[in-house]
This record gives sequence, C-alpha cells and structure tokens, in this order.
Amino acid sequence: MPEQISVESLTPMMQQYMETKKQYADCILFYRLGDFYEMFFEDAQIVSRELELTLTGKACGLEERAPMCGVPYHAVENYLTRLVNKGYKVAICEQVEDPKLAKGLVKREVVRIVTPGTNLNIQEESKNHFLMCIAYTVTKIGISVADVTTGDYFLTEVEDLKKLNDELMKYEPLEIICNEAFLVCGFRLEELKEKYHISVNALAPHVFDDDSCRKILLRHFRVNTLKGIGIEDFPVGMTAAGALLQYLYDTQKTDLAHFIHINPYLTSKYMLLDSSTRRNLELTETLREKHKTGSLLWVLDKTKTAMGGRLLRSMLEQPLVDKEEMEQRLDAVEELSGDSVSRDEIREYLNPIYDLERLLSKVTYKTANPRDCISFRNSLEMLPAIKTVLKSFSGQELSGIENHLDDLQDIYQLIQNAIEEDPPVSIREGGMIKDGFDETIDMLRSAKRDGKQWLAELEEQDRERTGIKNLRIKYNKVFGYYFEVTNSYKNQVPEDYIRKQTLANAERYTTVRLKELEDTILNAEDKLTALEYDLFCKIRDSIGMEVERIQATAKALAKLDVYASLSLISERNHYVRPKLNEKGIIDIRDGRHPVVEQMIAGDMFIANDTFLDNSKHCISIITGPNMAGKSTYMRQTALIVLMAQTGCFVPAKSANIGIVDRIFTRVGASDDLASGQSTFMVEMNEVANILRNATSDSLLILDEIGRGTSTFDGLSIAWAVIEHISNRKLLGAKTLFATHYHELTELEGKMHNVNNYCIAVKERGDDIVFLRKIIKGGADKSYGIQVAKLAGVPDMVIDRAKEIVEQLTDNDIIEKIQNITVDVKDVKAKKQPPVDEMELSQMSLFDTVKDEDVLQELMDVEVNT
Ligand code: ADP
Repeated sequence: MPEQISVESLTPMMQQYMETKKQYADCILFYRLGDFYEMFFEDAQIVSRELELTLTGKACGLEERAPMCGVPYHAVENYLTRLVNKGYKVAICEQVEDPKLAKGLVKREVVRIVTPGTNLNIQEESKNHFLMCIAYTVTKIGISVADVTTGDYFLTEVEDLKKLNDELMKYEPLEIICNEAFLVCGFRLEELKEKYHISVNALAPHVFDDDSCRKILLRHFRVNTLKGIGIEDFPVGMTAAGALLQYLYDTQKTDLAHFIHINPYLTSKYMLLDSSTRRNLELTETLREKHKTGSLLWVLDKTKTAMGGRLLRSMLEQPLVDKEEMEQRLDAVEELSGDSVSRDEIREYLNPIYDLERLLSKVTYKTANPRDCISFRNSLEMLPAIKTVLKSFSGQELSGIENHLDDLQDIYQLIQNAIEEDPPVSIREGGMIKDGFDETIDMLRSAKRDGKQWLAELEEQDRERTGIKNLRIKYNKVFGYYFEVTNSYKNQVPEDYIRKQTLANAERYTTVRLKELEDTILNAEDKLTALEYDLFCKIRDSIGMEVERIQATAKALAKLDVYASLSLISERNHYVRPKLNEKGIIDIRDGRHPVVEQMIAGDMFIANDTFLDNSKHCISIITGPNMAGKSTYMRQTALIVLMAQTGCFVPAKSANIGIVDRIFTRVGASDDLASGQSTFMVEMNEVANILRNATSDSLLILDEIGRGTSTFDGLSIAWAVIEHISNRKLLGAKTLFATHYHELTELEGKMHNVNNYCIAVKERGDDIVFLRKIIKGGADKSYGIQVAKLAGVPDMVIDRAKEIVEQLTDNDIIEKIQNITVDVKDVKAKKQPPVDEMELSQMSLFDTVKDEDVLQELMDVEVNT
C-alpha cells in the first residue's frame, strides 16, 4: 500500500487487514473473506503476476480501489504450493469466529505461515521435505534439518563448508534458514538460489542466542539437561536445532507434538559421499534427466509404504562405515530371504499401510479428517498379523522390529467403534460418528428420525391423562410445538400445563416434556453436527496423545518394509550377500552393474571381476575403446561397494568388500556448464578435491582424467595423478582409472601397485566387436576410428582419418614416454596444506575445491624431459 495513506480513512475491514499485514510484512497475506482468500495492494500484484490470476479492485475507503486478487479456499493448497515453491512465505489469516455470531467485524488471526520448507502439501510421497537450519561459526558449523510432514528432526556439526555442502546435497532441503554469519562466510548462495531453487534467509540474531536455543529445546522435549536428549556434545548443532525449532513454532503455530525425538549424529558415522559422487553414481536420480527411473533407488525400491520408500532413499544417501551395523542389516535381509513365504506375506500386509508419519503430522496440525482415520484404522488392522509373522524370525534386527512394533489395537478399536465406514471428508457436516458410540449422538439422531413418533405418543398419552378428547400437538414457527385445547375443555387442563398463548376459541400450552421434545427435535440437527465435530476432535486428540507409540511403530514398519524390499530384489535379481572385511580388500567375482543389467534385454550383461587392495593391486588402469564398457565397469564396482555398505545384497557371484570410508568419482562430462566453468576446470576441481580429501581407505573412480585439454597436458596430468595416488605415503587409495591414453599402461612396469586391465574387443576386418570382458593387460590401440565408423561417420571421413593417423604415429614419442622415470616423492617435503586453509571464496558450491597449487603441481610435471 502506498505509504502516505492514512489508515484511518480505510474501511474497518481494511484497517484490520493493514494491522495484520504490518505484523507479517515479509509474508504474502492470504486474508480469509468468506469462501476466498483475498490479497490486497502489493501482495495482490505479486500473486496475480506469479499465479496468473486476474487483478481486480475493492473499495477500501480510499479514492482508488485497492488492487485485489483471490483464490477459492477449497483449492488453496495448489496456489499455496506454487507460491512457496517460488520462494515466497505465505501467512494464512483465517476467520476465527463464526461470521453469523460475530458482532461487527469478524475476528481474524494468522493461523500458520507456510514457507518453502514447511509446506504440508505433499508433493512426493517417498521423499522428505526438509527445512535446514545452519548456525555458522568460524570453527564449526551447526546443521539441523526437520521435516514437518513426518516429524523427522536431525542435527550434526561439520568443520568446513565443503562438508556442509555434502550434507546439503544429502538432504536437498527446500529452504534454508541461517544466522547472519553464514550469509557472509563465502558460501555460494547465489548458486543455491538460482540453480537449486533453495530459498535462503537469515533469521534475527536473537533466534540463535545459545541460551534461548537451549531453553526452547529443553521445554519442547520436557527435559532438564541437553544430555537428556543426547545433544550435549553438539554445542553449535544445538544452536541450529534450537533456532530451527523457534522458527517452526513461529510459523506453524502448533505444539509440534509430532517432533518427539531429535537425532544427533556424527557425519563420520556414514560413508562420505561428496555432491558430485552422489550425482555421478545416480543413487536416487539420473544425472541428466533427474528421474528416479534409471537410478539405483529405482532398482532397489520395491517398498510398499511411503515410510519405507523414504527410509530406503535415506539409507542409500548415507551408507554405513560400521561393520556391525552393516552385518545387522544384511542379517535381516538374509533372514527374510530364508523364508520368502513369510516375507511375501509381510509385504501383502504392508501393502495397505498408510503413511503413518504424515498422518501424525496431520493429527498434530489438526487437519486429519475422518477418512484419514479410516485409512489409519485400515493400516492398524494389519499390525497384529505382521507381528505374528515376524515372531517366526529370531534374528536380532527383525526381533528388534517386532519389539518396537506396537500393534496399537486400542487406537484401532477406538476408530473402529467411533468412525463411520465411509465418512465424509468434511468434519463440519456430521455423519462421521457411528451409531452406538455416544448416547447423546444416538439420542439426537433418533430425535431427528423419530421426532414425529414421539410427538404422536405424547399426544396420545396426554389425551388419555387429561381426558381432553380433541387434544392436539401443533407447530408454528413462532411458538414452536404446543398443545391446543379448545375452550370447551379448558377446565380439564392439568396443573403442569403452561399457557403460551390465548386465541378466541382455544388456548395453547406447553409442558416440560413437550419443551424437552421440542428442543431435542428442533436442535437435533445443529447439535448433532456440533457434537460430532467435538467428538471427532476429541478422538483425533486422543490419537495425538499416542504420537510416540505411533511413531515408533511407523519407524519399525519402515525398516521392515526396506528389508523386505531388499530381500525380494536380491532374490529376483540374483544378488548375493557380500562378505565384509576391514583389511581393505575388494574382491568381486562376476560383478554386474545393478542398473545397466536391468536396462539391457535378457541375460546379455557380461559379468566381470574386480580385485583391489592396498598393496599390489591398488590401482587398476583400464584401457579400451570408447563404448567398450569402462565406465560401466568402474561404476559397478563403486555401486557394489556402496550397496554392501548400505546393508544390501550385491549383483555378483561372490563379493568380499573391504569397507571404505569414502567413494570419490570423477566420471564423464559434468553438467555444471551452467555455472560458467569450463568442463576442464570442473574436472580439475574434482581432481583437486579427491587428491586432498581421499584417504588410503577410500575408493576412487577416475574416468578419463585430463581429457579436456591438449593430449600432452592431459596425459601428463593423468600420469602425475596416478603417481600421487599410488604413493602410499601420500595417498595409496584403491583406484580404478579409465583412460584412452594407452601410453599410461607404461606405468604398470614402473610402479609395483599399478596394474593394467583392458576391456576386450575383437577385430573383425575393419570393424570391432565389443566383448565387454575385462582382461589383464593394456589395450595397445584406441580404435577411435572404428568406433566413429560404428557411430555412422561417413566412409570418406573415416578413410581420410586413417591416412592421417598413419602419418601421426610417432615412435619417437612412445620412446620418450617409456623413458619417463617415476617420481617417488619425499612426503615430508610435500606436506599438504590442511583443508581449512583453502580459500573458501574460491569454492564452487556443488562441485569441489579449486586449488591452484595442486593444479600447478600437476602441470609442472614435464613429461618430455
Ligand atoms: P565406455 O565408458 O568404455 O565408453 P560404457 O561403460 O559407457 O563405455 O558402456 C557403453 C555401453 O555398453 C553401455 O551403455 C552398456 O549398454 C554397454 N555395456 C557396458 N558394459 C557392459 C557389460 N558388461 N555387459 C553388457 N553391456 C555392457
């Protein structure tokens, strides 16, 4: 609204509007007017533009009409979602009293603020909707995430922005709130906003005040010390969690009763997967189309419930590093596979189970309707059967699930007894409560139905009692029901008759009993709907009292669902249980790529072995023409390791997996061109990141390092990178390194832990046939021209290329390469600067760290001398 306008000249309603708007200045105000939410002034202009709604005007007491636009209340979710997805915050202002009963202006209040990270409208069932809070300090960064639709609530701490970025990519929050320090710490906020459409807002400093954060957490969880909720060792994480809770209270305006637990964790509990590795391995979505189809999750997810779907996704996002935990999961999968009949029976029972976690959030927000209750009851109906089947399993994990699974039969009974089988969606129209559940409701219902009968009976009784032969019960709108006695019987009227009206030839009376009946009959309808509403709310609240039990059951079901899904997939796709070791040996026999094998018809996938360790078999250099299957092979190794550490069986004949702390990939062309960096720069960023952050327990997948620059530069960089990795004092990480610089195969003889492999092809005349089999030894040719021919490049061009290649082949260079000696670096002299010394402003958010030093070091290697 234009500032110069004096509020006094506005209509009373507009004054109320302005008053509310002032309190929620940073939000778009959805102001409830009858069946619409209306927006005015600037809000109206924004919304009409963003949602393509017609802008109209409303008389507001000023000379000019106020710009206005509106959305119907019953369709509000859709409009809301579109607005918050564009990063707006919306304050919902409701009429909080019945307009019919209101004296003067209807009272209105903001009942909830919807933000991108707190939208209750569920867009993807099997995905969490996370809100993230970041408390940045120079030494530590506190991170807390929460999902208001499920009650999930986590916190952790990380040391640097790189790790923060990894957590960010894991959770993919829809909204970030942070302290002001975070805005100026050098993190690439623009990229967050523009590329990933995450809204980022700093909250007022007092929200991050340690003391108030502590207080709000203690109060919410009803404990006296932070130890009581296990977060005493996360001081900065605590601040983030407290600020997040405050923000939720401020915006959600409910008691957040479904936030029962807070889950602190150390990032070291999980395998470290940086953002580009996550994307490259296509864990939950494909690299290019961002579809689930074609991802690892797509292959593994046969879960029956939304809860299971979400859990499986998060398990893949964070594989374990603790052997015992992995074995526990594998035990559960194996045990289920051992009794597939029971497993399939469990899956049948899981089938109708509704999203209990999201139901709980609806209960907390008081938006659950009778139909939700019926779906809930249908879910609970399955629980005893699931428990019974589970009892036939004795392993620790499945028994644990059985123990945590409360069959909730009290709630089942309550809903079963109380709620109609096919209730209306609305809770304000009655027809939800079953007959026989509540006496008053039964009475009111029969009043509606049987009223006439009761009146006839009363008329008959009183006629007999008084002897007034023509005694009649009549009705009119003004006086309601009355006995009418003609003047001739006037003196027979008994004492308990109360006169209501005198007419010329008759008197009208009522009695206590008639009055009662009249009240019952006339108010039955209104009372009935009001009472049903109250009763329904009570039932909903009593379900709300059991949040903790329901949530425990939901979590247990989610786990069970995941294990059953993994077991089924293992059986269908012929996976085996991996052995796990802590000796660093990765020994996969007849391994397959879990996704590619699903994509190609029949049994056409050619299985391959992988053997890596930290001594002689540290680095495998894999050569072979384009399209031979190098990157499929390397990814399959990474995926098998990752699956094993998720607790999943693996596509192989056998697998013994040495647990890795991180997987790094540098695979294919990155899709980061949009961020304005050249492909080569992106590639080198990733290499720098890997060399800095990998350890000897990591697994590295490097595909065609050095491709993006001139042949000699590229070859030199690749060479130096391999030297660096292979040096145990510097790194010594297990590595698969694909290249079509077959010159690199020279390294095998020069370093004891480097081995050559190639993917076999057969030459048939001028053509090649891909055999897809990995064999020992290096390829001596790159077959680029043959592949070009296969791809359909015209014969003329192919022939000319052959002529040129003949002339280029230069024995001199090959000799030079053979003469390069390996540089075994003295580690002490080459000590790496620690990670936090990196210049953060240089950091590309979703990729890696630029590091001129490392690049320079790489480039300084002179291959020719
Ligand atoms: P490269 O990285 O050597 O260029 P890719 O790994 O991209 O080759 O493989 C090219 C295609 O070959 C894949 O899309 C896949 O369809 C097929 N392929 C790869 N490995 C196998 C295999 N082991 N068995 C069957 N087909 C395979």
